[in-house]
Amino acid sequence: MKPPDSNFGSDEPVRHVLNVSGGKDSSAMALLMAGRIRGLEHFRQDDMEYLFCDTQKELPETYEYLARLEAELGSKITYLNAKAGFDHWHKVFGGYLPSPQNRWCTKMLKLKPFEAHVGDDPVISYVGLRADEDRIGYISTKPNIKTRYPLREAGIDYRGVIRILEDSGLGLPTFMKWGRTNSGCTFCFFQTPYEWVRLHDTYPEKFQEAMHYESIDPNDPNKQFTWMENAPLSSLLEPSVRQQILASGIKKKPSTANKSLVAVFGHHTSDADVACLLCQK
Ligand code: SF4
Repeated sequence: MKPPDSNFGSDEPVRHVLNVSGGKDSSAMALLMAGRIRGLEHFRQDDMEYLFCDTQKELPETYEYLARLEAELGSKITYLNAKAGFDHWHKVFGGYLPSPQNRWCTKMLKLKPFEAHVGDDPVISYVGLRADEDRIGYISTKPNIKTRYPLREAGIDYRGVIRILEDSGLGLPTFMKWGRTNSGCTFCFFQTPYEWVRLHDTYPEKFQEAMHYESIDPNDPNKQFTWMENAPLSSLLEPSVRQQILASGIKKKPSTANKSLVAVFGHHTSDADVACLLCQK
C-alpha cells in the first residue's frame, strides 16, 4: 500500500509518475529519482512508475536508449499508446500540421494517454525541467495531478545532466551524435533546419515521410500546411541552402525578419529554444 502524501491533503495513496521521453533530461531525472546520484540520494522514490507515451513516430534511437535506461534503473518503463495515432488526429484537424501555436500532437499523443492512464488517482508527476531553463512546457492541469521539477529542485543544469549520464555509463542518446538535439517525433516541428537536414541524411525515408504530410494549396493561403513556418521541407534540399545550413553548425535562432532563405535557414537553435516537457527534450 502506498503511503498518503501531504501534497493532496487526504489519506488517499499517491502515485508517483515520471514520464521519460528517451532524451537526456528526463533520463537524468529518472536516475536522480532512483537514488543513483551521490549526495542526492534523498530524492530517491522507490515506488516510481516510469511511463513513455509512444507516438509511434519516434526515432529508432529513442527506443534503444529507453531499453538501456530501463536496464540501468532496474525498473520497467510502461509504454502508453494513444488510442488513435498521429494520422487519425491529422485527419481530425483537417490536415493542419501541429505547430508551436497549435500543438495538438502533444495534447492528443502525449497528454491524453498520460491522463487516461492515471485516471482520477492523486498523482505527483515528475517533469525534467533543468535548473538553467526558464521555459514553460505542456503539463497536465488536472487537479489530481501535481507537478514536481526534481532537476530544478536539485540545482541540476545542462552540465549536471551530462555529468549524471556520463557517470552512470548510460551516456547521451545516440541521436545526438548525428545532430538531433532532442528526443520526440521524427518530424517534430521544433526541429531546426540543421536537424531536418541531418534527419534527411540519416533517415532519408523518414524525411520523405515528413514531406508527404505537407500540402500547399496555391489557391488558398489558409491551406499551406508545412512543418516549417515559411517554406516546405523540400526547400532545405536545394544544394546551396543545404550547404549553408550544414556549414552554420549550432547557433542561436535569429530573428527571421527581412532575411533571405539561406540567412534564415543557416542557423540551428540552441537546446533552450525547444519547449515540450512531455515530449521532452
Ligand atoms: S515531439 Fe514534437 S511533434 Fe511529437 S508530440 Fe512532441 S511537440 Fe509534437
